[in-house]
Amino acid sequence: MTGFPVTLYSADLVVPVTAPPILDGAIAVRGEKILHVGERVWVEESLAERGVPVEHVRWPGVLMPGLVNAHTHLQYTGMGEVSQRTYSGFEDWAKGFNPVYARPHDWAADAAAGAAMLIQSGVTAAADVVTDPEAAHALHDAGLAGIAYWEVIDWTNEQWRSHGRAEVEAALDSLPSRPGTGLSPHAPYSLEIVPLLEIPDIVRERGSRIHIHLGESGIEQEFAHEQAEPWQSQGMGSLAELRQAGFGTSATDYVDHLGVLGPDCHIAHGVYMSERDRAILRARGTTVALCPRSNAVIGLDAPPVAAYLREGSPIAVGTDSLSSSPSLDPLADVAELFRIARSQGYSGEDLAERLLSAATLGGAHAMGIDEGPQRTGYLAVGAVADLAFFDIPVTSVTETLTRLAESGEGRAAATVVAGRVRHATAAFAEATGVASPPAAPSPTPVSGEPA
Ligand SMILES: [Zn+2]
Repeated sequence: MTGFPVTLYSADLVVPVTAPPILDGAIAVRGEKILHVGERVWVEESLAERGVPVEHVRWPGVLMPGLVNAHTHLQYTGMGEVSQRTYSGFEDWAKGFNPVYARPHDWAADAAAGAAMLIQSGVTAAADVVTDPEAAHALHDAGLAGIAYWEVIDWTNEQWRSHGRAEVEAALDSLPSRPGTGLSPHAPYSLEIVPLLEIPDIVRERGSRIHIHLGESGIEQEFAHEQAEPWQSQGMGSLAELRQAGFGTSATDYVDHLGVLGPDCHIAHGVYMSERDRAILRARGTTVALCPRSNAVIGLDAPPVAAYLREGSPIAVGTDSLSSSPSLDPLADVAELFRIARSQGYSGEDLAERLLSAATLGGAHAMGIDEGPQRTGYLAVGAVADLAFFDIPVTSVTETLTRLAESGEGRAAATVVAGRVRHATAAFAEATGVASPPAAPSPTPVSGEPA
């Protein structure tokens, strides 16, 4: 490592996330890792004392950890026409989605285009749900961090037993091992009970991860019921059978009893969640990725973000795909969450800081990539140098963070992924002399390459 040159990135405001924001701060980067974080003067002095030659990149704006998009489907990047109108709920949206999905698509190219959009938005890691195998390499090929989750949907108990499980295990094992793999059982109502029971074991045997859409449909909500016996003793084959039998058990309680939740699982949406459901998520260490713009297009209610914040629930931010959202920029969802939290009565001055933390560290934690040698989602010594620079004027810390949270969409001036500059605007190039790299060469095909 000592052979690598050191780059000193300084900015008017550096937001490490796991330490207080630093006015006139800097970080030193060597190779793909962070070497120092602190006040610019101190970082410069400590490098000079050690006689380390430094290339200085000075940005008159904000420097943050790269954003983490904690819920998206990159392969649907070519399906933007579906999100051009609004819907009256998940089932109505699915009717708009299905015929467009059924047309021929170049899923690999669409997913690659989505990954490029992420990088332009300052995103350096993503939870990418993959439905067609052609799209499975997008994160890997783009060099992004995160997890590719193979989607599991529409299996009955019988089909699952006869061939479904084997097919899903083969699909999981053929995902590129880097950056990381997982399974995404679509939702509690789109799979019967046996696949939901067995998916956790399949991923846990491999040290892989789980991601599920939960609380995205009103039918998942709990309601008062007359049943005296617990549903688990009734031999139910699916959530639909539970509902038919009159059980008002919430979908969250249902998947919790099937062993789906845990710190290796994160959920998307979390809109229709009671106080009890939210307590279950907290108790299991399960993060919720909030996607408020997608919820609005689909015609759902706003997520209970003020309650999640007050109760100290682990939250992250996702955009969902372009088939239900206008862009893949998580800061647009942060702005929406800021507005929703205020309208729900959250008045804390820490709102901007907490939402920006959710859009970085929160998403990394959701996928388990905030720990270990490749840790990311925050700026600290030894973490991967995944960085995002924003074109936001810096005044006081609180004012600047609020500006970034409320109007940061489209303001990513540069993105550094694992120490390499992958995106830079003309304004960034002019201010720093660091230009956008030429378009990446077409990626070489991979299949389950060793880590
Ligand atoms: Zn989704």
